[in-house]
Amino acid sequence: MGPAAMASRRHRICMIPGDGIGPEVVAQGVRTLEKACAAHAVALDIEEYEWGAKYYDRYGQMMPADALSVVESFDAIYFGAVGSLEVADHVAVWGLLMPIRKHLDLFVNVRPIRCFAGVKTMRTASPQDVDMVIIRENTEGEYANVGGRMYQGENEIAVQTSVFTRRGTARIIDYAFRHAAPERGVQSITKSNALAFSMTMWDEVTRDVSARYPDIPCERLHVDAAAYRMVIAPHTFHTMVASNLFGDILSDLGAGLLGSLGLAASANLNPDQSRGLFEPVHGSAPDIVGRGTANPVGAILSGAMMLEFLGEDEIANDLRGAVGQVLGRGLGTPDIGGACSTSELADEIIQALR
Ligand code: ATP
Repeated sequence: MGPAAMASRRHRICMIPGDGIGPEVVAQGVRTLEKACAAHAVALDIEEYEWGAKYYDRYGQMMPADALSVVESFDAIYFGAVGSLEVADHVAVWGLLMPIRKHLDLFVNVRPIRCFAGVKTMRTASPQDVDMVIIRENTEGEYANVGGRMYQGENEIAVQTSVFTRRGTARIIDYAFRHAAPERGVQSITKSNALAFSMTMWDEVTRDVSARYPDIPCERLHVDAAAYRMVIAPHTFHTMVASNLFGDILSDLGAGLLGSLGLAASANLNPDQSRGLFEPVHGSAPDIVGRGTANPVGAILSGAMMLEFLGEDEIANDLRGAVGQVLGRGLGTPDIGGACSTSELADEIIQALR
C-alpha cells in the first residue's frame, strides 16, 4: 500500500495553476505540500484545471461555463497566477480570479508580511521585527467593477465607481479585530480626508466595531501615511485592515519589505462558509516565465496557509519551519540574490522538512 492509500485524513484540492510562472511555482508547491503531508499520513486529492490564457486562446473565455460550480465542490482551491501578454489584464483577471472570489464570497484576503532571517532587505535594522498581516477587503470597494466608458477621443469619459456596503465594511473590520493580538492592536487604513463618502463610512464602521473590542487598541491611519510608515517603521504595524485597492497596494509594499514579491503568500477566505482560495501574492511575472528562476516560496507558504485552513496546523508549521531554515542558510532564487532554480529551492525545502 502506498502512503496515499494509508492516509488517515484526505483533503480534496482544486488546483488552478493559471498563467505565466503560476504553473512553475504551483508545481513545486504541490511537491512540497505532498511531501509534508505524507509525513503526517495526510493525503491531498488534487484535481488540476488548466484554465487561464491558453484556455482563452482556444475557447474565447478564461474558464468554462460550469467552472464556478466545479470550484465550490472542493475543500480548498490552490491557485497560481493569472495574466499573460496575449490577453488584456482586465479580461484575464475578470474572467478567472475575480468571479471565483465573488462567487464564493471570499471577502477576506489575508496577506502576512513576516521577514526571513537570511534574506537581504532594504532595511538596516533587524528584519525579524517586521511581523504584520494585511487584512484586505476582497469583494467590493474600489474593485466592485461598476462604471462605464462613453464617447471617444478627446471627449471620452470613464467612470469607475467604488461600492462600499456597511455590511461588507463591517464584516472585514470585524474579522481584523477577531484576529488581532491585543497587545499590538489594529490599524485601520482610511483616506477620509479626500474620500468623504466611502471612507467616512469606513471610519464610522471602524469606530463601531472597535467599541465591541475594548481591549484591542485601534489606530486610524491615512493610506499615504501608512505607506510611508511601513517603509520607515514597519515594526509598528501588526494587523492592518484596508479596502480592496488600499490593501492590494500596501501588500505589494509589504512584499517589498520582505525582499521579494516571490516570498509573499495569501489566503482568500470566507470564514463563515469555510471556503478558501490560496495563492502567492505575485502575478504571472511574464518577464521571467520559462526560465526556471521563479521563487516558489510564496506558493509554498500559500499552501501552508491552505493546510492551516484545512485544520492541519502541524503540517503548516513544518512547512514554515523548513522554508525559514532554508532561507536562513542563505539559499534562494535570483530575486533574493541566490543561485537556486525554482525546483532546486523546493528540493532544499523538502530536504529540510522534519
Ligand atoms: P501580473 O500582471 O500578472 O500581475 P506583473 O508582471 O505585472 O504580472 P508580477 O507578476 O507580480 O506583476 O511581477 C512583478 C515583478 O516581480 C516582476 O519583475 C517579476 O519578475 C517579479 N516577481 C514576481 N513574482 C516572482 C517570483 N515568484 N519570483 C521571482 N520574481 C518574481
